[in-house]
Amino acid sequence: MSENPKIEKLRLDDDDGEFGARQQKPDDGKPATVYLAETFYITTKKNSQFEVKLTERGICLRKESNGSAKEQVIYMKDIIGCRCLRSKRKGQVGSPCACSSMPGPAQLKVVDEHSADLDESDVSAYLYIYAYILKKAGRRGRGSRRERTTLTLRFRSFDCYEDNNREAQKWRTAIKQLINGESPDLSPKLIEQRRMLILLNPKSGSGKAREVFQQRVAPMFAEAEIAYDLHVTKRAFFAREFVRTKDVYTWRGIVVVGGDGLFWEVINGLLERSDWQHALDQIPIGIIPCGSGNGLAKTIAHVYGEPYEPKPILGSTLTVLRGRSVPMDLVRVETRSEIMFSFLSVGWGLIADIDIESEPLRPIGPQRFTVWSLHRLISLRTYHGRISYALANCELSNHNSGVATNKLNALKHSISCNTALDCPECHGEGDCETCDTGFGDILSLETTSGTNSFRPRGDSWYSATSRRSTYFSASESVYQSINDKHSEPDSSFKYDKSTAQMFGPASTIPALTAPVPSTWKSEEGEFVLVHTAYQTHLGSDCFFAPHSKLNDGIIWLVIIRAGVSRSQLLSFLLGLSSGTHIPETKSPFIEIIPVTAFRFEPSGTQGNITVDGESVEYGPIQGEVFPGISRVMAPVFS
Ligand code: ADP
Ligand code: MG
Repeated sequence: MSENPKIEKLRLDDDDGEFGARQQKPDDGKPATVYLAETFYITTKKNSQFEVKLTERGICLRKESNGSAKEQVIYMKDIIGCRCLRSKRKGQVGSPCACSSMPGPAQLKVVDEHSADLDESDVSAYLYIYAYILKKAGRRGRGSRRERTTLTLRFRSFDCYEDNNREAQKWRTAIKQLINGESPDLSPKLIEQRRMLILLNPKSGSGKAREVFQQRVAPMFAEAEIAYDLHVTKRAFFAREFVRTKDVYTWRGIVVVGGDGLFWEVINGLLERSDWQHALDQIPIGIIPCGSGNGLAKTIAHVYGEPYEPKPILGSTLTVLRGRSVPMDLVRVETRSEIMFSFLSVGWGLIADIDIESEPLRPIGPQRFTVWSLHRLISLRTYHGRISYALANCELSNHNSGVATNKLNALKHSISCNTALDCPECHGEGDCETCDTGFGDILSLETTSGTNSFRPRGDSWYSATSRRSTYFSASESVYQSINDKHSEPDSSFKYDKSTAQMFGPASTIPALTAPVPSTWKSEEGEFVLVHTAYQTHLGSDCFFAPHSKLNDGIIWLVIIRAGVSRSQLLSFLLGLSSGTHIPETKSPFIEIIPVTAFRFEPSGTQGNITVDGESVEYGPIQGEVFPGISRVMAPVFS
């Protein structure tokens, strides 16, 4: 490559008409439509140029240097957003002009184009593209994880900011449309304008939800340019009352920042609306796990192959920002005194006791469950009563290991496993020769300067390696964060059962006071544990129903009968984290059964029954599944 290369513009409007598209062959052989393309440069990579193409697959970076070419893709499913920004005015230091090089990440300060602080002398338009790239588990046994990557494109081909900004905005609009699953026609129409409703429980888990939101969630919402209304709950049932009484359709979705208990409130609040069906259908609900029980968040990550540990907040925030949702089963639960809807579990016995009795240990976080499990193993209790259930239409190939081939399981979930920087050698691990192409975690590229048709090589590019993230303050007109004081009018909320009425689908099983159908199975006896679950995980470390799906119409019933030995029980408790708690060979004491409806009838008056981890009246209780009646945000991308 010559020292002063002729810059070949690859903009498609040059030859295909404005935003015309041409086809290119991606790695998988299927043609991908190229919506935009441009040539960029990078400071530290001398004699190389980057051809950047936007296709429905993502942003394809083709680096050509010294006669060889390398290509990598930042997949669209990993990109959460992009923002157009301008240079910020510097203090005493001379302002850069359009022909100067892009400063290193520490010096590069950018602001919104309407800021009073902007540097008029730099006519460049900067497009920041934010991606959270999935790095697959590698040969070295590391788990999959996501890493934040910023791609900065500096548009400076023209002499005035307006022209450069027009170029940057074309890219921004197209990227946003692709993120939203739309085909980019690059018309200036604005996509989803509704805000997200965020309900945050400051008391969930060890009480750090507020800090977690400010430090880790809000910056990602800013990157995605998704506006939100944040309401911090003031007491139990605040969220339930809120979604029951507000015009929920003004929001694009509801995000729960808390534990499963808060999610339960939102589900039940929506089902207390006369328009419940429409509300459940139209308003997807997401969860960002800050509770001590985060069964749903872990289940969603598990089912879709999204990394969870060590960054559950990151993965879940990405999921809610993507805005996609899938149907999820709900179970209508009836006790003597109330009707409610459950998305996770109904439990009686050991695990319910652990959930409720470990409450005073809340400050120690999820460890409280382990500590109390050991305690309860030593002081074992049994409960007398009757359990009845309607068997699901399942073929069990290995009854006691719970390996069920369920006809209802036919619904296949797409596993969103991908390698964003798709290297055929190291499969995204980034640790091979091929991968060392300068596609760092912050990649800043620029077009040639309008005032300098031959860019000054050597110093006009840079590749940053710092992993530091800079977040840009969100303008108040877009982002609204309602603090406690502002949401004061809501403080009059008090959960009032007399004004609330549970709607939802009508029951199809006999009332709690009537006998169960003759087709049900029933047994009376002494039980250590009777627990149902309809998610894979009851908590982030409790892989309770490994075969469960979000929308399979199955309730998994686990029974542990009295007579079980302490060692069997210990191995059950120890196996919960890996999903190996059900004995492989048929055991008379421990069993897992797929059902569609159940009834528990305790004989005594002392004990705990939980619905989704929260205590309910101790006494007879029954549940029936309603497949797919709610929508939960999930990491799907189509
Ligand atoms: P965890 O998983 O730690 O239990 P949750 O978010 O599930 O956290 O909340 C636990 C309980 O706290 C729920 O029953 C919920 O109704 C209740 N709750 C919600 N907001 C508040 C609040 N501001 N103060 C006290 N309790 C609350
Ligand atoms: Mg299920």
